[in-house]
Amino acid sequence: MSVYADIRNEVGENVFLLPVSKTKSYEAVLSVYSEGAKCFGENRVQEIERKFPSPQERPDKMEVYLIGQLQKNKVRKAVSLVSRIESVDSYSLLELIDKESARIGKVMDVLLEYNSSGEGSKSGFKDRAELIEALRSSLSMESVNVIGLMTVGPLTDDENLIRSSFRDTKALFDECRKVKDDLSVLSMGMSHDYRIAVEEGSTEIRVGSLIFGERA
Ligand SMILES: *Cc1c(COP(=O)(O)O)cnc(C)c1O
Repeated sequence: MSVYADIRNEVGENVFLLPVSKTKSYEAVLSVYSEGAKCFGENRVQEIERKFPSPQERPDKMEVYLIGQLQKNKVRKAVSLVSRIESVDSYSLLELIDKESARIGKVMDVLLEYNSSGEGSKSGFKDRAELIEALRSSLSMESVNVIGLMTVGPLTDDENLIRSSFRDTKALFDECRKVKDDLSVLSMGMSHDYRIAVEEGSTEIRVGSLIFGERA
């Protein structure tokens, strides 16, 4: 069995496994697609454009989710190429995604990214109140639909630190549900920490190197 199938069996039906194909070839994507994966995580708009066929020309039901930081000047391109943006880290970016999606008659599903580790090098909302305020504002936006939260755990071997960062994000997720009760996606966990993330309530894990091999 493939690693993709192994992990999917391990985490079960209630956790969505998003293979992260950044830096890997389209052939590698197709191989995991043939195992049943439909959605792929990528972190750069230019790479998506270069690597994948245009949305109309992709194999049946193949979708790309953007999981990396999005620059404002790439929003127009991004909304035309992906079906979900998991890395929304400011209110102004949310507004821009709403505007550009409206322009092409699309409603974009997005996740708000929370910087749960407090690491300065990481993106995401650092301020919980600010994130909740952005969520509240999104309720009146017609072309953007916030469906949940995303976080990247701290870069450490300390399991306790990783766990508390995920626990913290789950608590924020529950708070956010009081503002928007149909939030359904809590995206946390990567190759090295997905088991902890699932134990702490993750509904989506983003796994790259375990599935596709180490990146150069
Ligand atoms: C690269 C990346 C992943 C996957 O990382 P692995 O450690 O290779 O599993 C997950 N989430 C984000 C935001 C990433 O940039």
